[in-house]
Amino acid sequence: MKPLLTLLFAVFASCIAWSTANSQTIAPPDRQIDITVDDLPAGAANSMSAAAITEMTAKLLATLRQQQIPVVGFVNEGKLYKWGEVDERIKALNMWLDAGFELGNHTFGHTSLNKAGLKDFEESVVRGETVTRLLLAQHKMKLRYFRHPYLDTGRDVETRRDVEAFLVTRGYRLAPVTLDAWDWAFARVYDDAKKRADTAVQQEIVSAYLSYSAAMFDHEEKLSRDLIGYEPKQIILLHANQLEADHIGELFDLLRKRGYRFITLEDALSDQAYGMPDTYIGEEGTGWLERWAITRGRPPVGAPVFPPAIAQRSKALPPPPGETPAGGPANP
Ligand SMILES: [Zn+2]
Repeated sequence: MKPLLTLLFAVFASCIAWSTANSQTIAPPDRQIDITVDDLPAGAANSMSAAAITEMTAKLLATLRQQQIPVVGFVNEGKLYKWGEVDERIKALNMWLDAGFELGNHTFGHTSLNKAGLKDFEESVVRGETVTRLLLAQHKMKLRYFRHPYLDTGRDVETRRDVEAFLVTRGYRLAPVTLDAWDWAFARVYDDAKKRADTAVQQEIVSAYLSYSAAMFDHEEKLSRDLIGYEPKQIILLHANQLEADHIGELFDLLRKRGYRFITLEDALSDQAYGMPDTYIGEEGTGWLERWAITRGRPPVGAPVFPPAIAQRSKALPPPPGETPAGGPANP
């Protein structure tokens, strides 16, 4: 090669090398997220045996411990009372504390404040404390977090504020939600496929769940930046189900690739975003980014569409016995 050509080639090659190295070293932004898991001991507890709940819990907790993810699990104590299984179900719940995690209250009966009256709702809050308080005390911890079932916080401002004041007097902090990819809706069809040992459909559901999660994260991260100028410490809503027990590690991989670090709920709540005005009231519970946007008169648009194939599979299933969809709108 002639000297000039050699030189040009060398410059060209080094440019390529520089740009490749650069594109490889572009780090994702530093993001923080708290993981919360609702409907303990299990979303589908009414149709599961205590042994199945224990097995599912052990699998879920193994990943959470191994990856050192701080988690608060929110309990529906009503799910503990199945004839002949109460002790075993309480033990499954206690596994969370033994593994170093924290428990919060999610009402006794997964009660919607938008459907129940104020008195019934408050009763469900108090009744939902009994066992959890006891277990926490044994671990030298206090009950300090509350999560509204369905994220329903009241259909009018007065009810909403009354309940918030009531919860404060009982020592609770509310646990908001900013990220929610409706894992409960995928979990129902996943359970069905697993029962039928249909591994192809299970894999299809897991892929759809992770894709929908990624689309939802894109949407909420952008909404964060557009609305408040930065991405707050996010709080994600997940549920105690077989889908998460089997695949939560893949969700964590996805989050890490996006630059997320895992933090406690207490740390997340220290973000000033959670002190922003929120006057949202409505028939449907919704996430807090949406609430802040609506409060500012800028209802968000462009949320990702729930995968129609999964919705169709879900519709084809018989309604679960005595179960209620856990968190989020009743229909995907
Ligand atoms: Zn729930």
